[in-house]
Amino acid sequence: MDSLEAQSAGLAAAEVSSVELVDAALARIEAADATLNAVVGVRGDAARAEAAAADARRSAGDRRSPLDGVPLLLKDNMVQQGEPTTCSSRILEGFVSPYDSTVVTRLREAGAIVLGRSNMDEFAMGSSTEHSVHGPAHNPWDTGRSCGGSSGGSAAAVSSGMLPFALGSDTGGSIRQPASFCGVTGLKPTYGRVSRFGLVAFASSLDQIGPIARTARECAWILDAIAGHDAKDSTSIPEPAPRVSDALDGDVSGLTIGMPREYFEEDGADPEVVSCVRAAISELERGGAKLIEVDLPHTPFVVSTYYLVATAEASSNLARYDGARYGRRAEGVSDVDEMYRRSRSEGFGDEVKRRILLGTYVLSAGYFDAYYRKAQQVRTLVRADFERAFAQCDVIAGPTYPEVAFELGSKQDDPINMYLSDVYTVSANLAGLPAISIPCGLVRDLPVGLQLQGRAMDEATLLRVADGFQGRTDHHDQRPPGHLGQAAR
Ligand code: GLN
Repeated sequence: MDSLEAQSAGLAAAEVSSVELVDAALARIEAADATLNAVVGVRGDAARAEAAAADARRSAGDRRSPLDGVPLLLKDNMVQQGEPTTCSSRILEGFVSPYDSTVVTRLREAGAIVLGRSNMDEFAMGSSTEHSVHGPAHNPWDTGRSCGGSSGGSAAAVSSGMLPFALGSDTGGSIRQPASFCGVTGLKPTYGRVSRFGLVAFASSLDQIGPIARTARECAWILDAIAGHDAKDSTSIPEPAPRVSDALDGDVSGLTIGMPREYFEEDGADPEVVSCVRAAISELERGGAKLIEVDLPHTPFVVSTYYLVATAEASSNLARYDGARYGRRAEGVSDVDEMYRRSRSEGFGDEVKRRILLGTYVLSAGYFDAYYRKAQQVRTLVRADFERAFAQCDVIAGPTYPEVAFELGSKQDDPINMYLSDVYTVSANLAGLPAISIPCGLVRDLPVGLQLQGRAMDEATLLRVADGFQGRTDHHDQRPPGHLGQAAR
């Protein structure tokens, strides 16, 4: 019983209690996390007490949502009152949040139980969950490999059956890429669909929170719980969020799927990954969808554009970690300048420093027009590419990532190579569009992700196609070898 759907049904039928689910999750974390390092903190007693309250409430007839009584993990960049948030950074050592993020408030209203926090790349910068003060997280399919990043701990925890779902954040692919590496489903909603209040900012015009679970249907339930306008986030979409779970009818007939020429000509991609994705898209055609080719001509520029915009915003957002206000302060300093310098030098890891330097450079006088302003202009062109494509099709399909999970350590010395592999995921953030990664097969015994991108505000169609695919296939039911969920009930 390791899926959200199974746990939810078990709770609804009173076959299992929320306390039992919390205890089972704690036992699985205990058994597997010494190997995976996916979880960086649990709140066992508090979660058990909340589960007991949820059990009492449901047995009195008050079941709030399909998530009611189900345990989950938060990525460690979403705050919860009275709990630490580290963002996998030394600089947040000792920080305890005085307030709840809006996603935590909404999950609580839906009855879900936050059991703990998941490992991630420091400040969500990375694609491997190797840049973490807690040490790297490992892929349950092959523990010598990366689980992806930056929401790698969330994906690994769901994949290994520790918990049925987790939240991640996605600035340039950080929900979708780890979902693809770990063989689970991950949704990045439209920019502004889910409130960012209480999400530690990386790049504010790109960041978005979303669910990681086994299926599109489960992601729809989670989105229904967390989506919607929030007065505390002025960029959240003012219109009420439609209930996307109502849109899932299992039917993809009559829909048009666009296949961008540029995504299938990509030289650097693993050919076996590309053919696995092509085969998956053919399955949608067998289900009655129409396939067409579309053009996204600015694809060759999306990675550079993303790394200019994201680092510029990060350099500004991370200015607040100065040793004075949050977390860790350097000791034995003689003046305020030294406090700033040493707190930041000691507190940030190398990848975060690299991004702050890059971002400061592209925003500096003399380079602003050449880099930052230019990147904003290209961003507009990328958005226009998608508008043209979506005049012809309902969703755009392609690979989530050019390769399967790579070996831990294999890319540490080559950050540019790691950046370039974000070519399929960053466009959805630049254009603000919803996108999902769903398992679509194995290459050399490792999961491959099919990415679907949708029109802004239209998570419903995106999830409908993903659900239609999962109704016709069983890739999402594959479990990693030696998977705990099979051993432990
Ligand atoms: N891999 C990308 C980066 O390193 C995406 C990160 C993210 O989405 N948070 O910036």
